[in-house]
Amino acid sequence: MTAPPDLKLLDGFERALINERLHYAYQPKISLATGKLKRVEALVRWHDPEMGAVPPSRFIPLAEGHGLIDQLTRYGLDRCFTQWKEWRAKGIECELAFNISAMNLNALDFPDIVEAKCEEHGVPAECLVLELTEGSTQSLVNLMDTLTRFRIKGIGLAIDDFGTGYSTMKLVRQLPFTEVKIDRFFISDATRSMDSRVIVEAMIGLAHGLGLSATCEGVETREQIQLLRAMECDVAQGYGVSKPLLAEDLPGWIEQWEAGWDEMIAP
Ligand code: C2E
Ligand code: MG
Ligand code: MG
Ligand code: MG
Repeated sequence: MTAPPDLKLLDGFERALINERLHYAYQPKISLATGKLKRVEALVRWHDPEMGAVPPSRFIPLAEGHGLIDQLTRYGLDRCFTQWKEWRAKGIECELAFNISAMNLNALDFPDIVEAKCEEHGVPAECLVLELTEGSTQSLVNLMDTLTRFRIKGIGLAIDDFGTGYSTMKLVRQLPFTEVKIDRFFISDATRSMDSRVIVEAMIGLAHGLGLSATCEGVETREQIQLLRAMECDVAQGYGVSKPLLAEDLPGWIEQWEAGWDEMIAP
């Protein structure tokens, strides 16, 4: 008898996690003021020998539902911090953005675990930004407590996929975020539709008004880069900057990207 698909997926994922066969792709985020690399976002990748590439949208919920998310997050931090050190040794200076699950925040010692990992690997807390998507089951008071503890340690906090959830306005006002990541849904037609453009500009203004940095994700074209620069958006990320890269391809990408920046922003 063959196992039902979800169990097969869960079993495969658990084995990949235990055997350290999950890896990370890194997507560059650039400063729109200078064109320089600011940060990379680590995105987990699982390639199963039988099933092929399984997207995080399929296995992250599974990990969350089966008590494996804390283990995945700890594993990912170790992998990505090790990678960050390798880049640093080659003279590449960039911050690291790492996605966490709202469920990770249920563990009261999570901020201490992250801080200990930073210390263990020699990654300054200021070089780490945690990205959190709305959807926590925690009360606002608990969230406030946990997120504040990250901020006290100097770790940055981004609200991911901003604008798509129910209570993002409330969250961004009350919680100690440092960055707003405007969901790619809004940027996708901002160069064509006046309405979308107004919304993107308003969200950038909202972020700045609250003292937060504004990032646009899903930036795919040169026109969008130019538009976002005109709107004084701080950071851009998307296929138009770079697809998520293998770690070893980052140095070559930086060289190529920086050489093309003047042309990218030329009228
Ligand atoms: P996210 O954090 O919003 O990540 C951005 C997603 O958009 C990534 O998909 C990325 O590959 C994709 N993307 C980036 N630029 C573009 C673009 O220009 N156009 C389009 N169409 N897509 C773009 P991915 O890697 O499939 O990740 C999906 C989600 O899974 C992430 O959304 C994040 O919420 C979650 N995720 C990824 N890695 C991790 C992880 O290590 N831990 C946790 N807890 N969640 C993760
Ligand atoms: Mg993210
Ligand atoms: Mg996002
Ligand atoms: Mg998104």
